[in-house]
Amino acid sequence: MNDSLPTTPRELIDALVSLDTTSAAGNRPAIDLLERVFDAAGAEIHRFDEDDPRNANLVVVFPATTEQASGSASEAAADEATRLFVDPEDPSRRGVLIAGHVDCVPVTGQSWTTDPFTPTERDGRLYGRGTADMKSYLAIAAALAPRFQEATRSVPVYVAATWEEETSCDGARRLVEQLESLDIRPAIALVGEPTSMRAVPAHKSMNSLRAEFRGIAAHSSLLPRGLNAIRYAAEFTAFFHREVIDDFRENGPRDEAFPVAWSTGGVNRIDGGNAVNTVPALAEVFLEFRALPEIDIREVVDRIQHRIDEIDAAMREAVPDDPADPAAARSVGASLEPLNLLYGLDGSPDGPAATAAVALGAERTEDKVTYGTEAGIYEHAGMQAVVVGPGDIAQAHGPDEFIDLDQIDRCEEFFTRLLAVVSA
Ligand SMILES: [Zn+2]
Repeated sequence: MNDSLPTTPRELIDALVSLDTTSAAGNRPAIDLLERVFDAAGAEIHRFDEDDPRNANLVVVFPATTEQASGSASEAAADEATRLFVDPEDPSRRGVLIAGHVDCVPVTGQSWTTDPFTPTERDGRLYGRGTADMKSYLAIAAALAPRFQEATRSVPVYVAATWEEETSCDGARRLVEQLESLDIRPAIALVGEPTSMRAVPAHKSMNSLRAEFRGIAAHSSLLPRGLNAIRYAAEFTAFFHREVIDDFRENGPRDEAFPVAWSTGGVNRIDGGNAVNTVPALAEVFLEFRALPEIDIREVVDRIQHRIDEIDAAMREAVPDDPADPAAARSVGASLEPLNLLYGLDGSPDGPAATAAVALGAERTEDKVTYGTEAGIYEHAGMQAVVVGPGDIAQAHGPDEFIDLDQIDRCEEFFTRLLAVVSA
């Protein structure tokens, strides 16, 4: 054992929060620390460094040590582990993935009472960037690593720490490929975003796209020699609101468990043009939609793309014979670029993942949430996933982020219960 390593939950939270892993810095310092801690415990470790030197994923494996045999003294415990952590429809899917990200949102422009990278305890709370979202969860799991390593385990336990959850979730997408390459097939994923240790079974998808409209600049007095990009951007904006967003609201589906029961969205930003007397050559439209998890986001994107294709054709058709800018005339058109398409999570409060979390001491809830997480990606990869972690999402991204100290204790109890269940 390396004596200089933090070992208790609190020491590990302090150590992780002290590392700046905000989006621009990347997550590697936190991955380095977690790797050393799990390695010191003797766990099997797989580290995946990205080409971008800021980013890495860490996968920790505590393999099953026993086959569950009926009649053994530990039959009851093994039965519970099997019931909770083996997929009855595909028994090759077994075990539990403790999943989280170790990047954080930036602190720039925020006014903090204390230094965000100096964990500070005050009035039963621990302040610091990432205390709630979500370094505490993985720190507590890491503190229990020696006990997971020593236990006899009837099902495997995996821990994964990812990069860039806060911007793209690409770290989680890579993790799915990496788990596959290691032939790791957990039945259940426990994604530790802050839910105050409630087992949140579902969230909407979160999708952002950028549409670009390329016209031809001209002095507005010579209108026929230009092509107005904003006009087409406006047509598209009207289409998106009327035929996608209004349609979501009017024709459903609806689920009253969400804070807003239907799928929502809008064009939330438009950039275009440069002077009131100039035909605009360029307009950019940024749009977003958050759909109920049952909605196929690819189908929605295809509908949007189809309209963009129609507008593209109409713009090319409208190029004047004598354009004011012949070079621009050659690149006239409309295009669509997805910025981030993040799957929704479509579990139920009585589904396998929420049931497992509640069995470990999480609070059962019917509530579904509108913030996105990595859980939808894991569900899409074949696991049953639930969002359950210490701390409150309300504190997650603002200044003076904190976690209540009793949430740390509750999360430790949750993992201790997991340890007991998997120990056959
Ligand atoms: Zn988060």
